[in-house]
Amino acid sequence: MSSIADFTNVFTINTFAKPPSAAFQLNFLRDIQWLLESSSYTSTYKFALLMALANLSIESGIDDNSPHIISYKQLAEQFMQLYWRQAIPFAAQNEDSILRQSATKGQASVITLILNLQSDTQQTSLNKARTSDAKKWQSTITKVARVIKTYPARHLQSAENNNNREFIYVYDAKSNEIVLKPGIAYCLSRFSKIINKLCQQYWSDFVRKNSHNQMYFSDDVDLKQFLFQQPRLYLGKLQDVLIDAQHGQCFYCHKPLKEDAKNRTEVDHFIPWSKYPIDTVHNFVLADHSCNNKKRDYLAEEKFYEQWLTRNQRYGQIIEAESQSQNLGFISNRQRSETVSQ
Ligand SMILES: [Zn+2]
Repeated sequence: MSSIADFTNVFTINTFAKPPSAAFQLNFLRDIQWLLESSSYTSTYKFALLMALANLSIESGIDDNSPHIISYKQLAEQFMQLYWRQAIPFAAQNEDSILRQSATKGQASVITLILNLQSDTQQTSLNKARTSDAKKWQSTITKVARVIKTYPARHLQSAENNNNREFIYVYDAKSNEIVLKPGIAYCLSRFSKIINKLCQQYWSDFVRKNSHNQMYFSDDVDLKQFLFQQPRLYLGKLQDVLIDAQHGQCFYCHKPLKEDAKNRTEVDHFIPWSKYPIDTVHNFVLADHSCNNKKRDYLAEEKFYEQWLTRNQRYGQIIEAESQSQNLGFISNRQRSETVSQ
């Protein structure tokens, strides 16, 4: 007996089971280049949107031609993570030095919404703000989602000369979701590293050009570091939480971890930060300096992946509970870390 459902299944398998063709992927890269070069920017939202789409595509685990649905609320969560650290004053102790992210007068509304949430909840850690007042968090997410839908999502794929190329999704003002076209989630995920790097470059150039911001910059200021990297201290605190889960041993070579100057203990992003710039607490492992150095930006070998899964299965809940009790401000989502690394 055959039904429409059977037919749909066969259809889905035949159409989407393969990854997009080489020609499709090349065109995708050309279109991304076109988009970044010919778009006009009134704020940093478009860069955030592209990075958010890439991150969520990685999380989807899609490795074929499938289309992918992303809600504006999911995008808003990503925006909160991207902008949260940027909403602190650039020059310490100077409230006015919160970097402007809009080319028009005043501040980009996403930053303003974050500042309001921080002041309402009296929290500067994202995780604390999220949990201390779930209602306020949700209402902020709703507002940010609306901003994304009204501005960057509508205009992302149109150039300054009004030339439109809807190669990522077809914008629908009535929908609460974005449907990535077939093959796009695959490409966004596969090229996420380049996309993130380019967006970070454009994003910091935009912030650097803003005349309000310029008074806070000296020549050698590392703006990208401020906008996108982790403060060292923040990672250091995680050591205490992880050390028990690894029995005091290096994740890679199993030698005891020591605090000596030559081979100090380091917190390592198991999935490299350059590939996935979002912190989930389960993504971190402790390694000695030499192993961490050897690993650098390469994805760890398969045996380490198994080992990492086992550690998270055995100790995931403890790591999560500990990091929450110490308010380290990491996102605790084991499932998510695992789909990402696959
Ligand atoms: Zn080691």
